Amino acid sequence: MCENRNVGTDYYFCVGCDERYHKECVESPLQIKHPFHPRHSLQLFLTPRGCDYHCAHCLTYLTLKSYHCTSCNLNLDPICAMKQLPIVKNHPKRHVHPLTFFPRQDSLACNVCGVIKKFNPTYVCVPCDFVAHRNCIYFPFVIKISRHRHRVAFTSSLPSGEWFCGVCRREIDNHYGAYACQKHCNNYFVHTRCALRGDVWDGVELEGVPEEPDVVVEPFERIAEGIILHFTHAHQMRLEVSLVYDRTKICQACVLPIYEGSFYACMDQCDFILHDACANAPRRIHHPLHPHPLTLKAVAVTFEDDGQFHCNACAQRGCGFVYECQVEEECFQLDVMCASISEPFHYHGHKHPLFLALDPDEKHQCHICKGGYSKLLNCIECDFVVCFMCAALPYKVRYKHDKHFLTFCNWQEASDSDWCEICEGKLIVGENDFKFYVVGYGIEGTTGFYGCNECCTTLHIHCLLGKQRYMKPGQTIYVTMKSRSCRILHNNSNSRPICSGRKCQRRCLFNTVFKVDAHIFCCWECAQLFDEDDE
Ligand SMILES: [Zn+2]
Ligand SMILES: [Zn+2]
Ligand SMILES: [Zn+2]
Ligand SMILES: [Zn+2]
Ligand SMILES: [Zn+2]
Ligand SMILES: [Zn+2]
Ligand SMILES: [Zn+2]
Ligand SMILES: [Zn+2]
Repeated sequence: MCENRNVGTDYYFCVGCDERYHKECVESPLQIKHPFHPRHSLQLFLTPRGCDYHCAHCLTYLTLKSYHCTSCNLNLDPICAMKQLPIVKNHPKRHVHPLTFFPRQDSLACNVCGVIKKFNPTYVCVPCDFVAHRNCIYFPFVIKISRHRHRVAFTSSLPSGEWFCGVCRREIDNHYGAYACQKHCNNYFVHTRCALRGDVWDGVELEGVPEEPDVVVEPFERIAEGIILHFTHAHQMRLEVSLVYDRTKICQACVLPIYEGSFYACMDQCDFILHDACANAPRRIHHPLHPHPLTLKAVAVTFEDDGQFHCNACAQRGCGFVYECQVEEECFQLDVMCASISEPFHYHGHKHPLFLALDPDEKHQCHICKGGYSKLLNCIECDFVVCFMCAALPYKVRYKHDKHFLTFCNWQEASDSDWCEICEGKLIVGENDFKFYVVGYGIEGTTGFYGCNECCTTLHIHCLLGKQRYMKPGQTIYVTMKSRSCRILHNNSNSRPICSGRKCQRRCLFNTVFKVDAHIFCCWECAQLFDEDDE
């Protein structure tokens, strides 16, 4: 009758049709008075299909029968309606005195979460002027949230002053409960409702759990001045300065070329190189997108974890170094570029610092690529939003046929007559341009481009950096449902090969090609369709 699968000890059983019915559902009277809502009586009600009705007591979604108050639009499922509501709750850790149920919840702000909830069982201690929602009574006292590197502890009020939440960046009312940094970091406070969000807290109460010391392990051993032994490579590496731009010299950590500055190169025969900054990337970090520490590792060149990983921030595949969570079974992974983005983030294309302050329940779009697959950073002063994929794009790049640096330009800076020098296609391509969309250029033109101011060179981002910019040549990955071995190679032959993808059949223009058996594909997507093309 109520479609609630949870059948208790007492139920009615229909021998004819082998169905069980809750005792409460069968015996439910047409009208009841309930202590949860003493103001009005509740009528037995057939919940309309497709309507979003929840039981105000247990918060489960209602499908068939419920008790309904028309004047207040309140619902109780038949089981909760028949249950005795505990009038007194005793949880001295939250409040020293017993708390009594108070039915007019829509007039009281909870001392724990600071929110007024219209229908949420609420308990009070009148002499102390203390109010708490039923669930809030049992909220944790010490937790680790992703946005802050130290643990935060519940505090029933904040010192006087104007405070802002370290998650949503909005103001906190200091009369109500909040979480505060245990190490007293620069008045770091978080709204109770923000601290306990599913994407911020891992659900673990840490009160009484000893804290592991933050051991710093150096990423390399310094052998001599300018010579190191990096933990990801067996041979010593020497510091060199980039003089001539070479597209095929790729950093093993971030999978981007060496555009300028110094880098470490293997002193043996390997073409293993690392940007100076990437060689110094810490082995263990705290990142604002995950509550647990992340550990740096190199993805093996041979088959291991598919030879690739999926970044949880930008949603792109990568074969470089990965920061990985060691705590959870379903691991959280970040590429080196996304891992380097934290709060506040200074994006070259915006004058204010950016934060991870958007409400995850709201739908937002990156202002650069118009996409919504990767995690978003936003400005708390104006409405600017940028995704991790776009935020991690290098600002300054090199192109082999231009002696200057090219910089990232917003697509508004392009004119209708600009062309991409690599693919010779139009620089601005409409989102609905069928040809470009289908062959896999993505929605280029809306995502910005790279340009040289002096030579007026203009290039699509994908054409210059590659469509899978974090998949590195030399790597073997597995593609298609049949797990075929696929080798990623530099695309540097003078005659650019034709992509074997039957739906593509175009010259491979990107920096890398994907080789499966004797077939060459221009991108991962075309290689992934290999078996389908075969048939
Ligand atoms: Zn039932
Ligand atoms: Zn509350
Ligand atoms: Zn907040
Ligand atoms: Zn690098
Ligand atoms: Zn990423
Ligand atoms: Zn974007
Ligand atoms: Zn702004
Ligand atoms: Zn192009």
